[in-house]
Amino acid sequence: MFWRFFSFFLCQFAGGLAGWYVASPAAAQTGALVGIVLGGLGWLLVDLSRSMRLLRWLRVGDASDVAMRTGLWGEVSDRARRLIRAREQMTRESQNRLQDFLAAFQASPNGVVLLDSQGRIEWFNQMATAHFGFDAQRDMLQHFGNLVRDPGFANYFASHDYRNELVMPGRESTPARPVKLSVHLHPYGEGRRLLLSRDVTALEQAEAMRRDFVANVSHEIRTPLTVLGGFVETLQTLPLSEQERERYLALMAQQADRMQTLVSDLLTLSRLEGRPPPGTSDWIPMPVLMRQLEQEGRALSAVLNPLSDRLHRLVFDSLLPGEVAGASNELLSAMSNLVGNAIRYTPTGGEIHVRALLLPDGRAEFSVQDTGPGIAPEHIPRLTERFYRVDRSRSRDTGGTGLGLAIVKHVAQRHGAELKIESTPGKGSIFTILFPASRVRPCPDTMLASPLDASGSLSAAENASNTLM
Ligand code: ADP
Repeated sequence: MFWRFFSFFLCQFAGGLAGWYVASPAAAQTGALVGIVLGGLGWLLVDLSRSMRLLRWLRVGDASDVAMRTGLWGEVSDRARRLIRAREQMTRESQNRLQDFLAAFQASPNGVVLLDSQGRIEWFNQMATAHFGFDAQRDMLQHFGNLVRDPGFANYFASHDYRNELVMPGRESTPARPVKLSVHLHPYGEGRRLLLSRDVTALEQAEAMRRDFVANVSHEIRTPLTVLGGFVETLQTLPLSEQERERYLALMAQQADRMQTLVSDLLTLSRLEGRPPPGTSDWIPMPVLMRQLEQEGRALSAVLNPLSDRLHRLVFDSLLPGEVAGASNELLSAMSNLVGNAIRYTPTGGEIHVRALLLPDGRAEFSVQDTGPGIAPEHIPRLTERFYRVDRSRSRDTGGTGLGLAIVKHVAQRHGAELKIESTPGKGSIFTILFPASRVRPCPDTMLASPLDASGSLSAAENASNTLM
C-alpha cells in the first residue's frame, strides 16, 4: 500500500517537475500544476490497465500463472490464484469422491436408480439396466413410471408409503420362467427417491419350495395319523373279536411303519444337506456293496410277495472289481433305493438286473434295469423332486415315501456322480449312477474274496460309519 501511494505521489511530483521545466518562467506554477494533474492521471491510467488485465485473467481463471507479480494488483492476482487453486483442488476431491460413490453403486449387486422430485431418472447403475432394461442414453431424465408399467408398481409408486418393499414380475418374466424383482423406494433430500431393486427369483422359488415341502410333509404324516386315530377309537369304543383286534393292530403297525420310514427319509435328506460332501479318503469295494444289495433285494422281494411262489428274477453282475471313494452308508442307501424301487414297481415274475461296471474312460457305472411298468417321458425330469410320484397309490401300497429318488440324486451329486434315468412305458426302466474316474480305482485282490461278515453285510469297519441312514 505504501508503494502505491509513493508511486502515485512520485508520478505527480515527476509531472509537476516536468510541467515546471517545460513551461515558461511566467507560467511555471501553472505548468507544474498541470504536470501534477497529468502525472496523477498517468498513474491512474497505468493502474486501470493493470486492473483490467487482472479482470481479464480472472475471467479466464487460469490458475497455472498469475496475471502480474508486482504491486497491489499483483498481490490480489496471487491471492486469487491461490483461492482458485484451493477451489480446484476441492472440486477435484469432491469429483473423485463422487466417482467413488458411483463406482460403489455400480459394484452393488442391487439395482440402484436415483429419481428427482418429479420421479424422473437422474442416474442408474448397470444392475438396474439388467433389471428394467434401461438405456443410458435414451432413458436418462425419463419418468420412471413411464418405463416400468407394472400396475402393482404404479400403485406402490403413487402411494408414497414406502415402508415395505414390493415384489413384482421382472422384465423377462414368462409363465414358464417367472422372474421376480423386489423393489424398494427410499425418500431422501427434497422429494428425491432412491430405488433399490433385487432379483429375488431364487429366493421366491426357495420359499415356494419350502411351503410345498411343509405342506407335503404335513399331508404325508396326517394320512397315517388319521388312520391310526380311527383305529384307536374303534379299539376303544367297539367290542371286537380277538381276530378283529389283531387285524386292526397289524394295520396300525403298518401305518406307524409308514410314518417311521417317512421320518427316517426326511432325516436322511436333512443330514445329506447339512454335511460337507464326502472326501476321497474312504474307498468302498464295489463287490461288497453288490453282495449286500443282493441280500437286501432278495429279502425285499420275498417280503413284498409273501404268497407268491414266483418271486422276481434278480441278477447281480459285479463286473467292477474296483472301489468307489465316498461314504459307504450314503452309497448303500442310494443304491438300495434304486434296487428297492425296481422290486417294488416291477410285478412278480419280472426281471431286475443290477450291474456295476468299469467304463473304458475310467468312470464306473452302477445301474438297475427292470422290466416294470416304465415311466412316461413327461414324468422323468420331475422324478427326483421331493414327494413326486407317478402313481401315488402304488407308491404308498409298497411303502414308498416319494423321497427315495431325491435321496439318490443328492448322494450322487455329493459324490460328483450323475444320475441318469431312461424308461420306456410298458417295457421297463434303467436307473444309472455314473461315478467320475477320480472316485474309482481298482480293488486290491484280497477284497474281492472277502469281507462280508457273518450276516453277509458290509465289513465291521464300514458299518462303524454306517450311521447316517
Ligand atoms: P417312492 O417312495 O414313491 O418310490 P421315489 O422317489 O423313490 O419315491 O420314486 C418317485 C416315483 O418314481 C415313484 O413314486 C414311482 O412312481 C417312480 N418310480 C421310481 N422307480 C421306478 C421304477 N423302477 N419303475 C417305475 N416307476 C418308478
